[in-house]
Parts: sequence; structure tokens; C-alpha cells
Amino acid sequence: MTEAPKFIYAHCNSCAQETKHEIMSRVDRRREFQDGQNTIEVGSVWKTLRCKGCDEVSLHRRDWCSEDDPMDAPDCGTYFPPRVSRRKPDWAGRLEVPTEYKGLLEEIYIALHADSRRLAMMGVRALIDEIIRSTIGDQGNFGKGLQHLVDTQLISQRNREIIEAAVDVGHASAHRGYRPSIDNVNLVIDIVENLIHNEILSNEAESLRSSTPKRTKAVKAT
Ligand SMILES: [Zn+2]
Repeated sequence: MTEAPKFIYAHCNSCAQETKHEIMSRVDRRREFQDGQNTIEVGSVWKTLRCKGCDEVSLHRRDWCSEDDPMDAPDCGTYFPPRVSRRKPDWAGRLEVPTEYKGLLEEIYIALHADSRRLAMMGVRALIDEIIRSTIGDQGNFGKGLQHLVDTQLISQRNREIIEAAVDVGHASAHRGYRPSIDNVNLVIDIVENLIHNEILSNEAESLRSSTPKRTKAVKAT
């Protein structure tokens, strides 16, 4: 009997790349049931993993069934927490992200981590709607809302065009079963992140301006 491997290579969220992971522990669960004359076995293998680069710990689960076809592509299993293909920008941890964006952003990243690109794009559409609503109120017209974002210099005209393309991607995702490419998804997420970052910076600058005492003009002695 060959010895079980002590290491595997897996993506590390913290190192943001594939790294060597030590298998700290392993638990096998299995059960049997009867299907007519046949006994079928199903089970799960759980592994606690620790990244050799940064010591981050994660859990991996792979399910199996005695009826699995050995010719099928191997099941890669599921990681907890999910493996992150794109990390949240650093500023999201440093700056106060409005609560109404935070929940949607989190769900978009979760969809991205699961490679659910269509769901991510639908989330982006909802998030852009929310950004427009919180900036200028519900316009009932997406184009008007975007134009106002341009007028207030939160986005450039060029960004507006890209956002409209992003929304089309969102619509296509919802209605025609279109699956956007990784590059398109990343471009769209870049735009939305920039939009939120710009808004936060603009709000911060505004509150800084209002809290800075105004300079009083020196009165000339007569
Ligand atoms: Zn790591």
C-alpha cells in the first residue's frame, strides 16, 4: 500500500498563487446503501491544509461514489473558504465602504471565486444601480444616472461607455445565457472598483473640506 501524500499543491488566498500545502489531518467518511442487488458506497475525504508559504489554514473536501466513472475528469473538490481568484482591493480594507455596496461587493467576489461569472455580472449591474441611486437618487433611467455621474466627475465619458458595455454584459448574462470571458469580467470589476473608490475619495475630500476651519482674512490696521 502506498503511503498517503503529506503535501499537495493548491491555490493560497493569502499568497494569491498556487503553493505547497501540508496535509495536517485527514478524515474519511463513508457509507453504504443497497440499490437492488448492488451495494453502492459513497464518501467524503476532508483534509486540513496549511500553506507552507504563509501558514494560512484551509479545509478541502472531496466527495466520491463507487459508481464514479474512472475515465471522468477528477473532481477537484471544494475548499473552505473558497479559493480566491481575484482579491479585494487593498483600499476596501482601509476605507469606509458604504454598507449598501459592501454586501453586493462581497457577493460579487464570492461569485467570482466560484467562477460564476454570469452571477458576478448580474451583481455588478445591481451594484451600479445602487451607486447611481445613492449618488443622485433613483432616476428611473440608467442612462440619465450615468450622465449625472459624468457631470459630477465621478466617472469619465470613456468610463461611462465602458460601464454601459458592462451593463450590456449584465443583461446578456441574464437573458441570453452568455458567459463572459475572464478578461471581460476583470475589466468590468476594475471599472466598478474604480467607481466606488472614486466616490469614497470624493466623499472623504468633502468631509475633510467641511471639517477644516476656514481661513479668516487678515484685517488691515488703519
Ligand atoms: Zn499562502
